[in-house]
Amino acid sequence: MEALLEGLNEAQRAPVLQKEGAMMVIAGAGSGKTRVLTMRIAHLMQQGVDAFNILSLTFTNKAAREMKSRIGTIVGNSEAKNLWMGTFHSVFAKILRIEGHHLGFPPNFTIYDSQDSQRLISAIIKEMGLDKDVYKYKQVHSRISSFKNSLITVKAYFQNPELMEADAMAKKPRLGEIYKEYVDRCFKAGAMDFDDLLLRTNELLARFPEVLAKYQKRFQYILVDEYQDTNHSQYLIVKALADRYQNICVVGDDSQSIYAFRGANINNILNFQRDYDDVQVYRLEQNYRSTKNIVEAANSVIEHNQTKLDKVVWTANDPGPKIVVHRSLTDGEEGRYVASNIFETKMNQQLKHSDFAILYRTNAQSRAMEDALRKREIPYRIFGGLSFYQRKEIKDVLAYLRILINPNDEEALKRVINYPARGIGATTLDRLTIASKQYNRSIFEVMENIQHLDININNSTKNKLYNFVNMIHSFKIMSENQDAFAVAETVARKTGLLQELKKDGTPEGIARIENIEELLNGMRDFVEGQKEIADATGSLTEFLEDVALATDMDKEVDDIDRVSLMTIHLAKGLEFPYVYIVGMEEDLFPSGMSMNTRSELEEERRLFYVALTRAEKQAYLTYTESRYRWGKLIDAEPSRFIEEIDEQFLDIQTPMDTYRYKPMIDSDIFGEPDKSKLRLKKPVSGTPPIMGKPSEEQLRKLRKLRPQAASAPQTDELNGKLQKGMHVEHSRFGRGQVLNLEGAGQDQKAEIQFQTGGIKKLLLRFAKLKIL
Ligand code: ATP
Ligand code: MG
Repeated sequence: MEALLEGLNEAQRAPVLQKEGAMMVIAGAGSGKTRVLTMRIAHLMQQGVDAFNILSLTFTNKAAREMKSRIGTIVGNSEAKNLWMGTFHSVFAKILRIEGHHLGFPPNFTIYDSQDSQRLISAIIKEMGLDKDVYKYKQVHSRISSFKNSLITVKAYFQNPELMEADAMAKKPRLGEIYKEYVDRCFKAGAMDFDDLLLRTNELLARFPEVLAKYQKRFQYILVDEYQDTNHSQYLIVKALADRYQNICVVGDDSQSIYAFRGANINNILNFQRDYDDVQVYRLEQNYRSTKNIVEAANSVIEHNQTKLDKVVWTANDPGPKIVVHRSLTDGEEGRYVASNIFETKMNQQLKHSDFAILYRTNAQSRAMEDALRKREIPYRIFGGLSFYQRKEIKDVLAYLRILINPNDEEALKRVINYPARGIGATTLDRLTIASKQYNRSIFEVMENIQHLDININNSTKNKLYNFVNMIHSFKIMSENQDAFAVAETVARKTGLLQELKKDGTPEGIARIENIEELLNGMRDFVEGQKEIADATGSLTEFLEDVALATDMDKEVDDIDRVSLMTIHLAKGLEFPYVYIVGMEEDLFPSGMSMNTRSELEEERRLFYVALTRAEKQAYLTYTESRYRWGKLIDAEPSRFIEEIDEQFLDIQTPMDTYRYKPMIDSDIFGEPDKSKLRLKKPVSGTPPIMGKPSEEQLRKLRKLRPQAASAPQTDELNGKLQKGMHVEHSRFGRGQVLNLEGAGQDQKAEIQFQTGGIKKLLLRFAKLKIL
């Protein structure tokens, strides 16, 4: 126990040592909240609390795994395995598998991801004959999702004239009907969407007191990380479960609440003290993660928010370098700057790629970064976005697997009933859908009985349906006594999926086959891994559950050292030595869609606070002067958040630095800079390069920059003076000695051995060199 407490400061120890009661730790970023939760669990277990009686809710499954392994090293892995730990969705899916029958759900219910939900909604809109431009399926989906997160059931909706009126005003008077049909169809398909996992858990606990009592008794100690981002539905579940013992510990930071748009309710923190008796409130103030510059810069930003709890965050860490603010002309240039900088910093300081993260406000921004990283051959990993499990061929295989487990899974069935093509067309599917409504049976059940039903489908098609049903049955039997890998391999072969892709023969088709192979590899590992877990068997059901619940953070995990790219929302709770926050522009960050009210703007500011506080050693803020948005090149303005940082913490790079920096690095790594891209016949030092044909607007800016550049020190004068063997000083690389000179005039280059940072080849007309 001594060892456990040694890694904690005094303020952190208190909530670890308080065994019973309700407590809340409110503290700023990097102050050790997650560490406190982890140690609290280890400590409880050391005091004899059974792992089965502890429930710990985290923000990502990755966080849960890390906590578990940490606890494992303290109390032993076999004990730690028994902890109930994971995201709200994964923990409650597990409970719903056991208890869902009370609500009429089979234990093997399917979990619909948002794509499945949206496909179903879009099908319903079509079936109801509604205008898809008015009833946009994504909007309808997000409206339904917000109802569910506020526990507004279909019944509650139709009892609420205000909601109905709001939808009617928004020209969607039939939204309630869509909602009802969607819920009915999910139920019939034996499926729950993500929101259902919370909604149905609430329903379960509210309607079945014996079930509630069972889990209240089981979960004697409850812990919640990132409590500021729980929504109403999650809040009610926690409150219900904790009611009996009231041993509940929540940790959070109101300044990091960034999910209001998804229904997270900051009042959950503010009201905690009202909800339980004798709540102990702990505060942590020391940040262990970041340099002083970063901590204080972050403090100076969040000061601009009116709504916040009073908190102090300080650090004993070094001041560290200032936060670099960098401007580029285009997003392509921004990408190149970031990639170059990562390349250099990694080389100079002997770091790993995983020490770097690039964070952005919207997923679309990743493309420019990816292009630049690929050119530099820097390996990277994108979290979120179109990830492995979202790829078509993977979803196809998974759809087959889902039907084996739950034949009523309509979305999966529609996906593969005619893929690979087996002559079951859209008309047949429409007729099956109608019959399924008429007989109140699932489509698959209709297919199983196709020979005996009076349906307008000809015999040859009936035969095809019959064959399909038979094939699925045979897989199903196999899945009952073989592991997930064996079943999936058979499915990939016997359904004709692999042959179809092989026939295709294009590089894309080959990549798809490789992806399927990768999926099978992953399944084999999964099956192996499950052997270690007490009551697991490596079955297909277990695998599908794992896949459905893997948050984007958990996907594509491999051992290759890579730079991380993700949206700021996904970065919550994580830390990286070097962090690049890109696209720091008005209308992008803060997002143009979130500037209508002060509270929206404050949420964006909290998002920026989250982003900045991920950095341990250095943060970079980059913005561009123009950017393609909605297909048009528009002028961009630096984000107000840059201005809100106290200037003493910033290193604002001038455009001159930008200009000299880029070609120098290009020549360094790729040989000659591509002069066609520089476009300026006679380069004026201090003028940024333009990629492609400059627009009028860009030219105007350039003209503005040139007079500024004229006053900058000229380095052309080095030409002719510099000699082999001379000692020089460079503004960024420090001191060094000239090893070699080559070329002449505008193209003259010097090879310089720097004292730190190795040998570099610099173009003299750009290099900021001083002869010593
Ligand atoms: P966030 O608000 O971003 O979720 P947090 O409050 O959960 O941050 P942690 O992630 O728990 O903070 O801790 C931040 C970093 O500081 C981690 O690397 C952690 O290991 C380290 N740390 C926390 N407390 C201590 C301590 N007492 N001594 C040394 N390192 C510590
Ligand atoms: Mg944390």
